[in-house]
Amino acid sequence: MGVALDEARAALATGDVPIGAVVLDPSGTPVARGRNVREADHDPTGHAEVVALRAAAAARGGWRLDGHTLVVTVEPCTMCAGAAVLSRVERVVFGAWDPKAGALGSLWDVVRDRRLNHRPEVRAGVREAEAAALLGDFFAQQR
Ligand SMILES: [Zn+2]
Repeated sequence: MGVALDEARAALATGDVPIGAVVLDPSGTPVARGRNVREADHDPTGHAEVVALRAAAAARGGWRLDGHTLVVTVEPCTMCAGAAVLSRVERVVFGAWDPKAGALGSLWDVVRDRRLNHRPEVRAGVREAEAAALLGDFFAQQR
């Protein structure tokens, strides 16, 4: 989560919402990282999780990330929860809850939908206060 928080802070340089992610291989070694690049890349799908999952799959030479863990500073949205399912990651770990758009328990619970053929386990609230403070400071400055 420390790596993901560093990525989140780096997103501030391009005016992006500070959200960061990292993908760990089955041994717990980071294989890819990502940050929100919607503003930087003019990309509506440029969320930290998607960036990190794409980089991890490229680094591994395959789209299946069995046994891997996606770590992200904020609860993923529906798109990113879907990407986590499609990548077959074993686990998603996140920091702060997102009551306005979260899809891992807040507004939706995509990854535990029994109609899907893969359901990653979820661990929430890791270094939650730090992740929430980054977002809170960012949005306070936007006003
Ligand atoms: Zn997302």
